[in-house]
Amino acid sequence: MDSLFDAVEGGESREERLAELARQVSVCTRCDLALTRTNTVFGTGDPHSPLMLVGEGPGENEDATGLPFVGRAGKLLDDILAAVDLTRQDVYITNVVKCRASVAEGGRMKNRQPKTGEINACNPYLQGQLEAIKPEIILCLGAPAARTLIDKNFKITKDRGKWYDLEGGVKAMATFHPAYILRQSGEDLRNTKRLVWKDVQGIYAEYQSALEERR
Ligand code: SF4
Repeated sequence: MDSLFDAVEGGESREERLAELARQVSVCTRCDLALTRTNTVFGTGDPHSPLMLVGEGPGENEDATGLPFVGRAGKLLDDILAAVDLTRQDVYITNVVKCRASVAEGGRMKNRQPKTGEINACNPYLQGQLEAIKPEIILCLGAPAARTLIDKNFKITKDRGKWYDLEGGVKAMATFHPAYILRQSGEDLRNTKRLVWKDVQGIYAEYQSALEERR
């Protein structure tokens, strides 16, 4: 992987490393998503948390505010975290791409999944966040994050809810993205919520054990 981190090597704190990376992202033109973004969306939360959540990319609301997971999907993520007594301040949240991927449809710009080339172009920033934060647990929200961090052939319906061992002793799991949950209805919605609930229980148990080991 190419390195963007010459300016952040050395004895800086996690916060300093992340601030420098965020500065680089704010002026990045490594892929065409730079042409249509309003704001870059770098990440937020506690850089000392053992748990990092990685989603797909900014949508319309995130592009407008520069913050990850705002709007309805963000509210649902808050509810999912609250179900296991966590808040955004307890975790670090970011995405695989830092700029909104959109497509013109019916006279307006609609969110779309980022393309592989866009994810690859942005990957050094995600890797930089991982190097700075050194999470012990990663929860991938949706298939693009799981394919980037766990396995390029990851199938979210089949492979979610399982633990995967990544380099450096990091444990990773994937679950459904909150935006996907919001697109479900009826029995599908109930089933999807039940599966996410189960996944998040597993994540919370691992988070608690990581905190215990730090004491
Ligand atoms: S998505 Fe990532 S690589 Fe593409 S322009 Fe934005 S910050 Fe740069």
